[in-house]
Amino acid sequence: MKIAIIGGGAAGMMAAATINENSPKTEVVLIEKNDSLGKKVIISGGGRCNVTTGIQDISTVLSKYPRGGKFLNSAIRQFSPQTTYAWFEEHGVPLKCEKDFRVFPVSNNGKDVVQAFEKVFHSPRCSSVEAGEHKTKILFNHQVIKITHNNKTGFLIYFKTQKPLPVDKVILTLGGQAYRQTGSTGDGYSLAESLGHHITELAPSLSSLITKEKWPNKIAGISFIKSTFSTKTTKKYTFSGPFVFTHWGISGPAVFALSSLIAFEKFNANKPLKISLDLLTDLKTEQIITELKKFITANPNKLFKHALQQFVPLSLATISLQQINMSENKKNNELSNKELNQTVNWLKNIPLTIIDRKAGDEFVTAGGVDRTEVNPSTMESKLCPGLYFAGEILDIDGFTGGFNLQASWATGRLAGENISKIKNPLI
Ligand SMILES: Cc1cc2nc3c(=O)[nH]c(=O)nc-3n(C[C@H](O)[C@H](O)[C@H](O)COP(=O)(O)OP(=O)(O)OC[C@H]3O[C@@H](n4cnc5c(N)ncnc54)[C@H](O)[C@@H]3O)c2cc1C
Repeated sequence: MKIAIIGGGAAGMMAAATINENSPKTEVVLIEKNDSLGKKVIISGGGRCNVTTGIQDISTVLSKYPRGGKFLNSAIRQFSPQTTYAWFEEHGVPLKCEKDFRVFPVSNNGKDVVQAFEKVFHSPRCSSVEAGEHKTKILFNHQVIKITHNNKTGFLIYFKTQKPLPVDKVILTLGGQAYRQTGSTGDGYSLAESLGHHITELAPSLSSLITKEKWPNKIAGISFIKSTFSTKTTKKYTFSGPFVFTHWGISGPAVFALSSLIAFEKFNANKPLKISLDLLTDLKTEQIITELKKFITANPNKLFKHALQQFVPLSLATISLQQINMSENKKNNELSNKELNQTVNWLKNIPLTIIDRKAGDEFVTAGGVDRTEVNPSTMESKLCPGLYFAGEILDIDGFTGGFNLQASWATGRLAGENISKIKNPLI
């Protein structure tokens, strides 16, 4: 039996390694249009590669996928974050779990993750190689442009420049269309459609957001470990976590999560999205007021903005006063109760107007191959026998924190196990 895996990213590498290890006699051709494997994996997590999550409770893990959590139930229960952790350690990549449950290689180097697979394939980086004693062939610089399927003869894979390749079964692992420079340019969607599948609406997810307000630019780089965002749209979303002000608006894990929740909301400068930001999530309004009053009484001649410095940096304290039209030179002994309440209320409910997503810097594509057309227990197509899917090409996406790679490892694993387990219907 000859299997083609198209796309040498996270899911493709895991599918190929699984077949290689479980069923070494099966002939596998891993097809990649770049001249190396896992370009996106290497740059992921800022080059450190957040391989998976340290969260062990599977229901909690599944809740981190705004789309596809239920579909992933089987894949992630079989190849859980813990199993992923063990797999990489067994393959020579020691891992560490950080305080926020993100898991990275101890080396902080994403290249080690890809090298673990390269070792499995024994593949030197060259355009085409028959690997060691294993039956895995890696075709680099091969861009797939068309696939045809015939129930009797199997699949025929067409390349941009090379001769077509006949195979019995195919796994599509071409990823989404985020960070296109890594090779994931959305080619998988049209290939899946040509084999009878439907692609759900696509949208960028896990991106920074651009605000109409220009003041974030003045405090770009100021970050908060925990803040809470709430949308004021018809659908109410709330998300807490770390975030940072940027030159164009807001970014950071909590913003990425918010962008994921609103991935399919339409908004722009004419139809903006109103959100509210609570910078002092863990403190009640009354608590903040009590603390400020203590400072005010003890320091009547100091500027009020210095009282606010107990809670926020001076630059943001100044902006808060500007936003509620209060003089930044107001002294503590000149402050009315109303002004005190107004300031605290602003810091607990900062109004922001989202007008756009930061184009091209999204981490993942929301939407993809319709999940209802794929068997979640095997990753096989329900429409085209012998066709399998894994990774971001599917209508699955998660929050930041290792969840997207975890989905790719788990679905790649499941596809690899099942494609080599099932008897070839053509023989
Ligand atoms: C900047 C950035 C940082 C990220 N950081 C993290 C992180 O730390 N943790 C996390 O969990 N997730 C992270 N993600 C998301 C994660 O990297 C992806 O979800 C994951 O890599 C998807 O894996 P995949 O195998 O489905 O697709 P990809 O890894 O995108 O691989 C698809 C492969 O298919 C190849 N291909 C495409 N078209 C063709 C064609 N026509 N012919 C042949 N080959 C083709 C591509 O060249 C590519 O190698 C990050 C994403 C980005 C962009």
